[in-house]
Amino acid sequence: MLPVNQAEQIILNLVQPFDRAYDVETLSLLNASGRILAETVTSSLDFPHWNNSAMDGYAVRYDDVQTCSAENPVILDIVEEIPAGYQPQTPIQPGQAARILTGSVMPTGADTIVIQEETQREGDRVTIFASPQHHAFVRDRGAFYQAGNALLPPGLRLQAPEIAVLAAAQCAQVNVYRRPKVAILSTGSELVGIDQPLQPGQIVDSNQYALAAVVAQAGAEPLMLGSVPDQPEALKTAIQQAIAAADMVLSSGGVSVGDYDYVDEILAALGATIHIHAVAVKPGKPLTVATFDHEKGRGKETPSLDSPTSKKQLLYFGLPGNPVSALVSCWRFVLPALRKLSGLPSPWEPKFVKARSLSTLKSDGKRESYLWGNLRLVDGEFEFELATGSHSSGNLINLAGTSGLAVIPLEETQISVGDHVQVLPIG
Ligand code: AMP
Ligand code: MG
Repeated sequence: MLPVNQAEQIILNLVQPFDRAYDVETLSLLNASGRILAETVTSSLDFPHWNNSAMDGYAVRYDDVQTCSAENPVILDIVEEIPAGYQPQTPIQPGQAARILTGSVMPTGADTIVIQEETQREGDRVTIFASPQHHAFVRDRGAFYQAGNALLPPGLRLQAPEIAVLAAAQCAQVNVYRRPKVAILSTGSELVGIDQPLQPGQIVDSNQYALAAVVAQAGAEPLMLGSVPDQPEALKTAIQQAIAAADMVLSSGGVSVGDYDYVDEILAALGATIHIHAVAVKPGKPLTVATFDHEKGRGKETPSLDSPTSKKQLLYFGLPGNPVSALVSCWRFVLPALRKLSGLPSPWEPKFVKARSLSTLKSDGKRESYLWGNLRLVDGEFEFELATGSHSSGNLINLAGTSGLAVIPLEETQISVGDHVQVLPIG
């Protein structure tokens, strides 16, 4: 059976990231929050825009103050007041200073700021009691950024600092990647919707919501297609609709070895290439990963701006039906693929943290095992505590409220209390 890291690399190699020519939309700045930049942003402005003062104080010529001290102060004539937003008018001559406030523009002639705390003012004169460093507290024009250079690179997720930079650069509109559309399809004749009465033998389709939540939290757009019974024709129609509507498809259920597990054969009948059937992971062994070529999957050949047809290849994940398995597979295999598809730069792989285990963690050693529990940072060190209750892949209940999945590698059977373990943070 395929080890997890090999499955991960196969999947990542199959993903064709969004295209900067087709998969882009222009949004107003605030609407772009959380989105991924699809262009290199440059500015015609220098940052800072002007030479300015970093402190409240006096703009002086260093030559005038370099030898002064409390015992040997220097007195300068104040020739101008420079508040914020004011363009200084008077060059500073030897023996002169300007009163200046934080962020205000440096007057010509001055090259240094003496902070207010080291001065005393009387009328139009100021006494300086300490010698500053040359150029102290002067922020030079262009010191942080010079006009015309790359300000922000494509692939950056726009959070508050990036939004602030774009605002400062007066970018009212930005080109960002569109949100990937991810179709979510549940398979199983036992499934009923969240708002339908539960008859004997039926199960509520929780995977639809679980997977939609993961997809939405990753910044993609879930297309909730509901559930389809285990009937080949119905499944075929539903899968065709899913691949026509989306950039990526997630189905759950029907990929195991049961009599009613039709997903793989329908995918093959629809012309998909199946790359993975199963992975050595627990929970989540049955995992189908398939691709549809654009022509076969969609029947359209011309890329257009508002549809997902610019993709030459669509990735299909047939996730296991067990609710915990479906989620673990989604976190472990779908999210990296979604990150790559979305336009984020590598690494797309999950970031694990090293934690000290507070619990004994067991595995049969035959598959890489993921055990759910709580990840906490205590005195600078991560700790992992196994969730109490059943760790069955069918039991969602104790997965709720957890924050990490501890990983027991292939061929290892136990991690003892106090040992270190790799943990995948979730939620
Ligand atoms: P399957 O992979 O189709 O054999 O399903 C395995 C188990 O997961 C069965 O007990 C199903 O009832 C359950 N299951 C399948 N799909 C869902 C779903 N969408 N929501 C909740 N449970 C499911
Ligand atoms: Mg099923």
